[in-house]
Amino acid sequence: MLVIACIKQVPDTTQVQIDPVTNTLVREGIPFIINPYDTHALEESLRLKDRYGLRSVALSMGPPNAETALRKALALGVDEAVLLSDRVFGGADTLSTSNVLASAIRRLAADEEVGLVICGKQTIDGDTAQVGPGIAVRLGYSQLTLVDRIEHLDFLGHRIRVRRKLEGRYEIVEARLPALITVVREINRPRYPNVPMRLAAERAQVTVWNNDVLRLDVNSIGLKGSPTWVSRIFSPERVKGEIIGDGMCDPVGTAELLVEQLLERELLAV
Ligand SMILES: Cc1cc2nc3c(=O)[nH]c(=O)nc-3n(C[C@H](O)[C@H](O)[C@H](O)COP(=O)(O)OP(=O)(O)OC[C@H]3O[C@@H](n4cnc5c(N)ncnc54)[C@H](O)[C@@H]3O)c2cc1C
Repeated sequence: MLVIACIKQVPDTTQVQIDPVTNTLVREGIPFIINPYDTHALEESLRLKDRYGLRSVALSMGPPNAETALRKALALGVDEAVLLSDRVFGGADTLSTSNVLASAIRRLAADEEVGLVICGKQTIDGDTAQVGPGIAVRLGYSQLTLVDRIEHLDFLGHRIRVRRKLEGRYEIVEARLPALITVVREINRPRYPNVPMRLAAERAQVTVWNNDVLRLDVNSIGLKGSPTWVSRIFSPERVKGEIIGDGMCDPVGTAELLVEQLLERELLAV
């Protein structure tokens, strides 16, 4: 049975530069890393491989240089690395990205049963958190997002129980396998590759699938299959607000002052 980790290669910066003319990310001259959340997805897939004897696959869609991210995954111990790369996949929005990834998973599932697909909760460049759910919907898999702990896995009974980390609370959810989960950082601490594994990964094969392999309708992938239209991308300017009281030393007084000012400005009605 397979466990698949979806990993995306992203620019190693939180200060992403935007091309003001094309409204796309400027990727030249920036070092690339595995999306930080995806390192946790990878780690979880490796723990499941170790614990249940699953075969682990790392899957990435991207330009040819995304092979570097997959070699890092091989150095960490995945059994197979698959790169989905083709010019016709380029310019994809989240809809067509999830289409290509889902199609590759379907292809892998034709040869070997898929138990679990693991994605990061979101990327640090695109940041939409849409790709994981997009893949799950296309494949008809159960969808469990923001997972910080896999509580129980029963591959024979096809059940999974996870803990989801929501704002201010946790939620325990049970679902049928196969499932796609998206994970948060708290789920694990990623391991580091050792030197022999790193050297072996340099020689290991990364499978590359283009659209001759996936045979997707070109109107459903890449730019043509992307209905999203980005009119403008920009970093919001920080507006320095007025500091009202000292909430740390005098929370009650600060709250009273805040309510008073909101009432004064008619932003609050009683
Ligand atoms: C109109 C438009 C045009 C675009 N054109 C380009 C372009 O030309 N080139 C380009 O590089 N990007 C382009 N993008 C960005 C691209 O759509 C996103 O990078 C991609 O869809 C993933 O979305 P995200 O980064 O928000 O991922 P999220 O939805 O935040 O990712 C969630 C998780 O899904 C998985 N995942 C996401 N993407 C991949 C991937 N590629 N491979 C494996 N797993 C993945 C990871 O596990 C990740 O943690 C474009 C976006 C739009 C809207």
